[in-house]
Amino acid sequence: MTESTLNANVDPAEIGKFERMASRWWDPNGEFKPLHELNPVRANYIDEMAPVAGKHIVDVGCGGGLLCEALAQRGAHMTGIDMGTAPLEVAQLHALESKLEIHYVQNTAEAFADTHKGEFDHVTCLEMLEHVPDPASTVKACAELVRPGGSVFFSTINRNPKAYAMAILGAEYLLQWLPKGTHEYKKFIRPSELSAWIRAAGLQVEDIRGVVFNPLTKRYRLSERDVDVNYMIAAKKPL
Ligand code: SAH
Repeated sequence: MTESTLNANVDPAEIGKFERMASRWWDPNGEFKPLHELNPVRANYIDEMAPVAGKHIVDVGCGGGLLCEALAQRGAHMTGIDMGTAPLEVAQLHALESKLEIHYVQNTAEAFADTHKGEFDHVTCLEMLEHVPDPASTVKACAELVRPGGSVFFSTINRNPKAYAMAILGAEYLLQWLPKGTHEYKKFIRPSELSAWIRAAGLQVEDIRGVVFNPLTKRYRLSERDVDVNYMIAAKKPL
């Protein structure tokens, strides 16, 4: 970690978890299986709320590049930023294999926003806020990166007993989908908290959707009512 990121909004232990899992990022049956299954659902939602073709989009906390590639395939000009070295290497290699041009940068949202204010039509920040020390600061940086009239998408995990049961006991202990310790309950974020940070950053909340896992079909779907566990928020920067 360089000096400039030493006091940044980064938890080195969190980055370390993703460094260690990075080589399996594109294995649809590995630790990132839930992200693979979520990916089409969230890419559809983003594209419906804010059409992506021809748009410049930055994905904050892009990891191995699942969302970057899905949106690039739909014609978006993608930049992905992350603080992980191995995840970015995996992302870069995979983009080559997929013959997609994606710009990957190792940086925090805050530092990147300092030099790229208002440069993006849309910003996405999915499954990342629950891994940073100060998520409100990340939300503020995302709001700085987007142009007036552009959209910002967040997704994370709600904080309540059901979310604990599903996301930690279920996914890490029972199903062993994720390594134990992937998620910390106290870092989960209630929709009311995320909405407050979004508004404080000068964005308007447009839509909140639950992302619900059906154990019978083993598929995720969006729900207008059930935001108990995983959820997404679409926000807009006023013109
Ligand atoms: N958004 C991706 C990956 C989610 S995993 C997806 O949904 O498919 C969380 C990612 O956030 C990891 O790649 C991790 O390295 C990254 N991350 C965690 N803290 C970060 C920070 N402070 N700045 C940038 N990236 C961070």
